[in-house]
Amino acid sequence: MVPTLIKDILVSEPDGKNITVCGWVRTVRDSKNLVFIQVNDGSCFANIQLTFDRNNPSDNANTDSIEAELKKLNTGASIRAEGLLVPSPASGQAVEVTLEKLTCLGVCPPEEYPLQKNKMSMEYLRENAHLRARTNTFGAVYRMRNQMAFAVHSFFQERGFQYINAPEITCSDCEGAGEMFQVTTLSMEKIAEMGVKAGLGGMKIKDAHKIVDYSKDFFGKKANLTVSGQLEAETLATALSRVYTFGPTFRAENSNTPRHLAEFWMIEPEMAFFTLEDDMDIQEEFIKYLLNWALTKCREDLEFFNKRIQPGLIEMLEHVVNSKFKRISYTDAIAELEKHADKFEFKPYWGCDIATEHERYLTEQIFKCPVMVYNYPKEIKSFYMKLNEDGKTVRAVDVLVPGIGEIIGGSEREENYDKLLAACKERNMDMSNYEWYLDLRRFGTVPHAGFGLGFERLIRYVTGMENIRDVIPYPRAPKLADF
Ligand code: ATP
Ligand code: MN
Repeated sequence: MVPTLIKDILVSEPDGKNITVCGWVRTVRDSKNLVFIQVNDGSCFANIQLTFDRNNPSDNANTDSIEAELKKLNTGASIRAEGLLVPSPASGQAVEVTLEKLTCLGVCPPEEYPLQKNKMSMEYLRENAHLRARTNTFGAVYRMRNQMAFAVHSFFQERGFQYINAPEITCSDCEGAGEMFQVTTLSMEKIAEMGVKAGLGGMKIKDAHKIVDYSKDFFGKKANLTVSGQLEAETLATALSRVYTFGPTFRAENSNTPRHLAEFWMIEPEMAFFTLEDDMDIQEEFIKYLLNWALTKCREDLEFFNKRIQPGLIEMLEHVVNSKFKRISYTDAIAELEKHADKFEFKPYWGCDIATEHERYLTEQIFKCPVMVYNYPKEIKSFYMKLNEDGKTVRAVDVLVPGIGEIIGGSEREENYDKLLAACKERNMDMSNYEWYLDLRRFGTVPHAGFGLGFERLIRYVTGMENIRDVIPYPRAPKLADF
C-alpha cells in the first residue's frame, strides 16, 4: 500500500482507522514500557509520533516482530509502519499512531551517520549536501523553494503571461551581465599540443589565438552558457505580448560572496507595451505576491526560520507586504549617499556603480524598506536599455531589499533602431551576432520592458538564510562543484 504523507496524516481525523506511514526516524525514546518514535518524511516540517505500549499493545500488534525491528532503529533509519490513527495525549500534536506493524527498511549505523552531531555548522552540512535535506533547516528551505517556484508560475499565469524557455547555450552575450562559461568540444590538450609545436616553429605569443579554429568546434563558432535569457525573451514578447522564463543561468563570476552563485535560477518576464513605470509596478506587485504566498502557505516552515534562522523574519515580511516601496532616481540616491560618505569604503559619486555597501545602506539605514533605484547613467548599464531624453541616463531599475541588496534588475528596452545601433557602436560590439535582435526594431517595433529576479536571492530573503549556497541543493561557485 502506498503510504499516506505525514502532512496529510497530521490533519486527519484521529478516528482509529488503519494507516501506513513511511519515512526516516528522527528520534527513538524507549522507556521501559513505552516506546515513542518520531518519524519525518519531508512532506512537512512536523514529525508523526508512533507509540508502542508494551503493557497495553494494540489488539492486532505483532509484538515479537515489533521488538525485533525496534532493535534496528536509530536516528536516520528508514521505516514502514502500520497502525491506528488516534488522538494524542501529548501536547503539541493532535494525532499519533499506535503501532501494529513495524519494518525497518534500512538501518543507519550511528557511528558512521554524518548527521549524528548535535550542533552542525552550515559549512559541515554543505560538505554533506547529499544528506542535509534530512535536517529541519534544509527540509524547510527546499519546501520553501518548491512553494516559491509554484508562486512564480501562479503569479504570471493569473496575469496572462506565457511561460517560455530561452536557450542555455548561446553565441550572443547579454552584454555585461557577467563572465561566461565557454561551451566547447575542442580538446584543450590538442590545442596545447598544437601550441607547443607552433612554438617550436617560432610562433609569437600574440598570434597564439590563431591556433584555435572555432569553425572546427561543435557549433562552428565560440559558444557559451547563457548569463540571461532576456534577449531571446524579447523576441517572444514581441509576438506573444507577455512572457516569462524561469530557468538556470550561469556566470563565471569569481566572486566568493554570500550572494553570488556560478549557476543560479532566474525569472525573466518580458512585456510588450510596458513602460519603465509599468515595469516597476509589476515588480512591486510580484515581490509582495511572493512574500504573501510564503506567509500564508508556508507558515510552519516560516515559523521555524523566524525562531531559529532570523528572529523577526515574519514581522519583516508582513511589513514589506503592507508597505509601499520607495522609488528614487539614481541621481537622488547618489545625493542621499553623498550625505553619508563617511560610512563607506567606496565614496559614492554621480556616475559610480552602486556598490553592495551603498545598496544596503539605502535600503537598511536610510529608507528601511525595499527601494527601487531608476534612471542610471548609461555608461554603467547595458546597451539594450532605453535612453532617456537627457541623453545621459537610461530607463533601468534595480530593486534593493534589506539584508540582500539587489534582488531585481530591470529596464525599459531601447525600441528605436538608430538609438540601439548607436549604443552598440559606442560599446564596440561585434554586431554579427545581434542582427536578429536588431530585427525586432526593424519590423513592428514596440515599447517593451522586463526584469530579472534571482530565484536564490528571493529564497534567501524569505528564509533569512545567510548564505546563498544554502538555498540551492547543490551550489556551484568558484572551486565548488561537488555532487
Ligand atoms: P549583482 O550586482 O548583485 O552581481 P547584477 O547586476 O550582476 O547583480 P543582473 O545582471 O541585473 O545582476 O541579474 C538580474 C538578477 O539576477 C539580480 O538582480 C540578482 O537577483 C540575480 N543574480 C545576478 N547574479 C547572480 C549570481 N551570481 N548569483 C545569484 N543571483 C544572481
Ligand atoms: Mn553580478
